[in-house]
Amino acid sequence: MDEVLIESLPDDVLASLEVRDRWRSRVARPGGGLEFIVTDLARWQPGSTVRVAFLRGDTALHKDVAAATRQITDACNLDLDFGVDEATGEHRRWTEQDTTYAAEIRVGFDLPGFFSLVGTDSNDPTLGPPVGRVGGRPHQRSLNLGGFTTARPARWEGTVRHEFLHALGFHHAHQNMRGPCENEFRWEDDPDYVPTQDPRGVFVPDANGRRPGVYTFLAGAPNFWPRQKVDHNLRTGNPPDVVAGPFDRKSVMLYSFAPFFYSTSPSPCAPMGNGLDLSDLDRRGLRLLYPDVEAGIADIAMRANRALSQLNGGQESIRVAHPAQEDRVLELLTGLATTRA
Ligand SMILES: [Zn+2]
Repeated sequence: MDEVLIESLPDDVLASLEVRDRWRSRVARPGGGLEFIVTDLARWQPGSTVRVAFLRGDTALHKDVAAATRQITDACNLDLDFGVDEATGEHRRWTEQDTTYAAEIRVGFDLPGFFSLVGTDSNDPTLGPPVGRVGGRPHQRSLNLGGFTTARPARWEGTVRHEFLHALGFHHAHQNMRGPCENEFRWEDDPDYVPTQDPRGVFVPDANGRRPGVYTFLAGAPNFWPRQKVDHNLRTGNPPDVVAGPFDRKSVMLYSFAPFFYSTSPSPCAPMGNGLDLSDLDRRGLRLLYPDVEAGIADIAMRANRALSQLNGGQESIRVAHPAQEDRVLELLTGLATTRA
């Protein structure tokens, strides 16, 4: 059984996301007034240019990361601007002292693992702890490609595309409510499993070959996840995954888990893609999020406008308690409402 480190945002960032999402779902509740699909708020303005900056790393690495994202921008009506200096070839950088945004997407290589905030959360100054290293503020990482400065993982281009799709608003395919993964994960231990750990603290099969379930396995090294974190990262949850569309086994957003995570073999939840390239449905999702046809853009603008007028109409349940969050929603809606083809 391999050591499996599952991708996750830091706990303090997740906590602030959960507070925000609870508020948004209250607002979006029928009768709450805001009919705009909540996940839409994660989308950048179609046709816009989103800036990217790097913390540390050399130009060769920056260039490779930028090149890997081209498959994404080729498929949709959104540009990523890496701020390449024509004369020197240098890419845009950000620092942990920044007080204004060098870029909407701020890449770091120095924290363990890979993760990214989703879409416009990347520059939401209310997300994450003010002094933390990850969050939506100018001095915080919004996307991490851990260890890329020393050694890149196998199929690193796939990792880059996975994280940048998060940064453009995509969620995980295994959490797509239309998919089979919730029922496919072996949440519980095999019956009569005796908790057994190897010297590194990884839960392994016991002397009789009974296996730990997902909860037990992730509670051990190297993840040490409490049950609630497992649920947050692996279970489907309530909101429909409007971005991912149909469940897609070839998506780069479908996480590859070890075989013992699944209750059947071969599992319908296991990925079928090459782990490198966007699938046809990934591209389709990108075009839905960032359409280049007038009708698609007009539809987004119209729905954002309607949500704005509801907010400005003084819906009591919205205009209370959370001024920073409300301002953020207004800002995002205003941007989308003014999108032009
Ligand atoms: Zn991910």
